[in-house]
Amino acid sequence: MMAAVDTGVLVDWITRYREAVTAQRDWLTELDSAIGDADHGANMARGFAAVGEKLAAGAPGTIDELLKTVGMTLVSSVGGASGPLYGTFFLRMGMNAGAVAELDGPALAAALRAGLEGIVARGKPEAGDKTMYDAMAPAVDAFDAALAAGSALPDAARAAADAAAAGRDATLPLVARKGRASYLGERSAGHLDPGAASTAILFETLAAAVADSA
Ligand code: ADP
Ligand code: MG
Repeated sequence: MMAAVDTGVLVDWITRYREAVTAQRDWLTELDSAIGDADHGANMARGFAAVGEKLAAGAPGTIDELLKTVGMTLVSSVGGASGPLYGTFFLRMGMNAGAVAELDGPALAAALRAGLEGIVARGKPEAGDKTMYDAMAPAVDAFDAALAAGSALPDAARAAADAAAAGRDATLPLVARKGRASYLGERSAGHLDPGAASTAILFETLAAAVADSA
């Protein structure tokens, strides 16, 4: 049973996420065309293409270096709201992880929570505002709860992915209170939030990377 993730597993996560947002770019853009400005798929694909180029140029030694590189690249390459938000997520996650070569379950959970708190500090989302927070907060909570209940790391990552997907689906009826979608008021109801959709993919790819390394 695997008790920790190393830099290689996190690189695999980022690589899988780049592939997934590229493959699902049109769907993410379609979601954003309903309640935003139809660029979320393009923003995510562009940001993670830039991340892929950065990582291909040199393998990062420690987990904080890796995650800070991802975060800074997203902040500098994505113009939309999602760039600084996801960028802050990875930067804070890296700062919390520190200059280590691997993270055990509780350390990974703490790093993910620090990332979530970075998004809260940056965008001030609250539960039910119809944002990426509505997928990410339940995912981080589920990760913690699974570890507290004695689950192994792959099972905790799976629980987090399932909670993120449920959180994404729960954004459907919500009226947006943050970001561009909030300009639509009541008309934002009846559509999934694009950022919640990309966050569900983020946790799905994390669960897959962790499962395959176990
Ligand atoms: P933009 O809105 O600038 O076009 P994107 O389309 O890439 O950027 O990203 C939109 C997503 O960003 C939304 O679906 C939502 O999940 C997220 N978002 C926007 N504003 C906030 C905020 N203040 N807090 C948290 N998430 C937000
Ligand atoms: Mg947009």
